[in-house]
Amino acid sequence: MTVNLDQVEPLTLKGQIAVPYTWWVGEVGSKFLIALRDEAKIIGNRCTKCNTTYVPPRKNCGSCFTDIYEFVELGNEGIVSAHTVVRFKYPLQPVESPFAYALIRLDGADVGLVHIIKRDLDRLKNGVRVKAQFKDPSERTGHILDIDSFQII
Ligand SMILES: [Zn+2]
Repeated sequence: MTVNLDQVEPLTLKGQIAVPYTWWVGEVGSKFLIALRDEAKIIGNRCTKCNTTYVPPRKNCGSCFTDIYEFVELGNEGIVSAHTVVRFKYPLQPVESPFAYALIRLDGADVGLVHIIKRDLDRLKNGVRVKAQFKDPSERTGHILDIDSFQII
């Protein structure tokens, strides 16, 4: 039997896969996450060529491609520069909804850090000041969610 495949109705199947994985976060990522875990401090790094301060810190400057070796401690506060509120439930979300993903410009940084805001979502708007809320030391594991969330202040 000869079939002209151009005439076959295209079907799709829905599926779901779980892919556990582990990856090394690198020297710079490790330094950032260890500071969160052990000291409840947010560190970034500054390009000495163009003076851009990154958080999370990165190995190379995204503007001038210089290797970055100068680390700086940033404050725990900053300003929301963009956000979106999540109201649906989905198993892969970092926390129970409703919550917001927010791009937070920490004091002293030139780029935004993506994190979550859990409370006072009715007060959330771009430009509002927020402060990092760290988990208790016994709960911190060297993960971005060692910062439990940011709270509007
Ligand atoms: Zn640079």
